[in-house]
Amino acid sequence: MSEIIPVGLGERSYEIHVGSGLVAKAGVLLKPFASGIVAVVSDTNVAKLHLDRFCAALRAAQIDARPITMPSGESTKSFAGLEQLSSALLNTGVDRGGLIVALGGGVVGDLTGLAAGLLKRGIDFAQVPTTLLAQVDSSVGGKTGINSRQGKNLVGAFHQPVLVMADTALLDTLPKREFRAGYAEVAKFGLLGDAAFFAWLEKNWPDVFAGGPAREHAIAVCCRGKAAIVARDERETGERALLNLGHTFGHAIEAGCGFSDRLLHGEAVALGMALAFEFSARKGLIGAPEAARAANHLAAVGLPTHLKDVPGGTPGADALMDLIAQDKKVRRGTLTFILVRDIGRAFVENNVDAAEVRAFLSDKLAER
Ligand code: NAD
Ligand code: ZN
Repeated sequence: MSEIIPVGLGERSYEIHVGSGLVAKAGVLLKPFASGIVAVVSDTNVAKLHLDRFCAALRAAQIDARPITMPSGESTKSFAGLEQLSSALLNTGVDRGGLIVALGGGVVGDLTGLAAGLLKRGIDFAQVPTTLLAQVDSSVGGKTGINSRQGKNLVGAFHQPVLVMADTALLDTLPKREFRAGYAEVAKFGLLGDAAFFAWLEKNWPDVFAGGPAREHAIAVCCRGKAAIVARDERETGERALLNLGHTFGHAIEAGCGFSDRLLHGEAVALGMALAFEFSARKGLIGAPEAARAANHLAAVGLPTHLKDVPGGTPGADALMDLIAQDKKVRRGTLTFILVRDIGRAFVENNVDAAEVRAFLSDKLAER
């Protein structure tokens, strides 16, 4: 069974296919987009598990598939990684008649998408996301990029894929911790705009973790949600910013941990969302029980929801504020945050007093 979700972006429109076992059909699905060489970019972990099978599926459809394997990990999303990948792609001979496929998590997707957008002034690319985070979030919407010394994702471009193929069976090999981290972004879709989905997750999350129809359903709901937001606001001039729920606090904490294994992106987002709900409660925007309900679900699946949950601790309030300021524009002491009026009712608040955020963080850090 597979579901097809259209992303309506005029001449840049494309489909997201969600289903178990799609890799076997990769040749048929990608054939219409591949009249020349097809370069398949993966990372060392994914390559070991899935690259041969994926390329074999392409070759079965008479596609000239050329595999490329990059080192795994966030540090690959760098200028050095971009140079290495560009060179490898050019060596395959792939050109504007061909296709570049990102077979991997968000790191491979973001880096490959950027390289595809730049090489020969833009080569088509397809996303075959292999992590839960990539299937529900990073593979959809066309944001590509690398990190620089100044921060994460600061060098990038919009380059929409021609197809997204989310094979939910690929997630069976994903380490549990990575799956759980990706689940934070799944919960995010409920928390920001879909209270009924959040309630469904509260009941059904064990089945989402176990795999099968519940997992497919959850991924399809998230893709539909993201596709709708992206179709209305491709370039993030408004509503798309809601997808950053939990990310302002989250990015600062992630950066404070040096983007290390101590805290994965999704774990930082879970903690960031718990803080965004609590901060909203403190401002009287949402009731304390609703804020607690959001955090309780994240904690129930094993995600961090308190600053003290971060192994090895976090930097202090001033350092976190510096990191928030680096990440966001601070205008006259005010910050932009995604806040909430209820579960499923997030909104963009442009006038958050930085001093109030600092006091909140300081209180949170003092908690035992
Ligand atoms: P990742 O790509 O590093 O993957 C996580 C780990 O899982 C890696 O070690 C990888 O090798 C391994 N892996 C991947 N698929 C596997 C599989 N099927 N089986 C076994 N191991 C597998 O990280 P991620 O969490 O997928 O993505 C994080 C990145 O995504 C960040 O750089 C973040 O900035 C970016 N992101 C981008 C967007 C966007 O809109 N472009 C949105 C959200 C996040
Ligand atoms: Zn995220």
